[in-house]
Amino acid sequence: MEERKHLKILSLSAEAVPFAKTGGLADVAGSLPKAIRALGHDVRVAMPRYGRIDPAKFQLREILPAFPVPMDKQMEEAAVLQGSIAPDVPVYFIENAKYYDRDGIYMYPDDAERFIFFCRSSLEMLKRLGWCPDIIHCHDWHTAIVPNWLKTVYKDDPFFSRTASIYTIHNLAYQGIFGYRVLEIAGIAEYGFMYHPEMADLAEVVDLMARGIYFADAINTVSERYAQEILTPEYGEKLDPLLRDHRDRLSGILNGIDYEVMNPATDKYIAQNYDVHSLDKRVQNKLALQREAGLTENAATPLMGIISRLTDQKGFDILGDVLDHLLDLDLQFVVLGTGDPHYHEMFSHIAQAYPGKAAVFLTFNAALAQKIYAGTDMFLMPSRFEPCGLGQMMAMRYGSVPIVRAIGGLADTVQDWNPRSGEGNGFSFVRYDRWALFATILRALENYKYEETWHKLQVKGMTADFSWGASARKYVDLYFRALAARDQETRAESQ
Ligand code: ADP
Repeated sequence: MEERKHLKILSLSAEAVPFAKTGGLADVAGSLPKAIRALGHDVRVAMPRYGRIDPAKFQLREILPAFPVPMDKQMEEAAVLQGSIAPDVPVYFIENAKYYDRDGIYMYPDDAERFIFFCRSSLEMLKRLGWCPDIIHCHDWHTAIVPNWLKTVYKDDPFFSRTASIYTIHNLAYQGIFGYRVLEIAGIAEYGFMYHPEMADLAEVVDLMARGIYFADAINTVSERYAQEILTPEYGEKLDPLLRDHRDRLSGILNGIDYEVMNPATDKYIAQNYDVHSLDKRVQNKLALQREAGLTENAATPLMGIISRLTDQKGFDILGDVLDHLLDLDLQFVVLGTGDPHYHEMFSHIAQAYPGKAAVFLTFNAALAQKIYAGTDMFLMPSRFEPCGLGQMMAMRYGSVPIVRAIGGLADTVQDWNPRSGEGNGFSFVRYDRWALFATILRALENYKYEETWHKLQVKGMTADFSWGASARKYVDLYFRALAARDQETRAESQ
């Protein structure tokens, strides 16, 4: 086999486990680099040092004192602290009190400026460190300006002359759409808006996601199915014409989960550790969860869990339509999530109406999440769309059987149980419809009555391989493809 060189990779992300997390992006940004490192590459991570990241707790040390970073026509100051997610995977934290010393991570009026500053500081940091990556791996809209810069403001900068960019779309629904001012802040006003004959809006706004797609040397998304779906108007979130133009550079790579962190045999948060050979012990986690959630303690009652951002994407409108019917049945529900106030209200109402049967935690709580994966019998994700979804994989790893809509990454990881052939590892439905969901839950409840069947389903999930191994290799292939595309472009330009 061809001997490949060891790559230098900088991964840029707005959030990463264990430092800051609102969703799956943080899981990926905190675990993929470790898997790439295990393949022998020098991968480093950069993210903002939000106020909530305690330097003492994570033993961060300053490696670069304040240095100037161009923002619009002025200079802002950034400093860099260093920590790590593994002994050989450094994390660089961009520090600036004005932008990051706030309670939350997102949802501020100056988010565009905050993340452009993070990206610009990261590139300037590299020069100061004298560490020139082969690949800059950008995740989601917060870092999508980087491929744009590498082809504009840094185009003739010898430091980046051989650096290729990868842009990973974790969720096309969040594009980072702003006004003209962002071009000035980013120093690219002279290049103007983008233009596409089928996308009139692009000529009037700055869509950072679109820029990542347009300028990156390779683009990917987080499951093969979603990579196909986003080429259609139904799931393309109005960017499908652009994605179709660039489909030769677009691929799908399924996310993995961190099998060290997500391990029921060693998990410190759960009442009782267990593995696939000691599944009988798992019931202790169910009883402990029922107790903690104020549900009636009963090992036999089927217990269904939800851990999710509470948004329209996740299918809670169709669930809301059938919740009362479901709770008339012999089952229990536990919900952990935050998001849209409308869904907070809906789930609170259910918890009040069905004491002992439904429990709702409207917070973000990583420890409780592990207890729910370990203590529920079934895990529900009826998503309207789902780029990959990590919840269903985590649930399977912990022996909770997934009930999902067959869409995006859910379709790539959960196959509907077929009692005749013995194929399948969960329950799924295709049509986005309340009764399709209801019928699928009924099917799951029916199968739950058969201990042997249920055990088989649990074992299938627990023994499946959703670790990063195979996907990390696909990312390395993608990095080499991006480098080749970059070289080809440079050669073409110099001719
Ligand atoms: P998304 O990235 O769209 O939010 P994913 O299924 O890919 O959905 O990833 C969600 C991640 O966030 C999982 O690790 C899940 O356990 C976690 N999570 C979601 N909501 C909560 C919450 N309220 N408390 C703790 N963890 C949560």
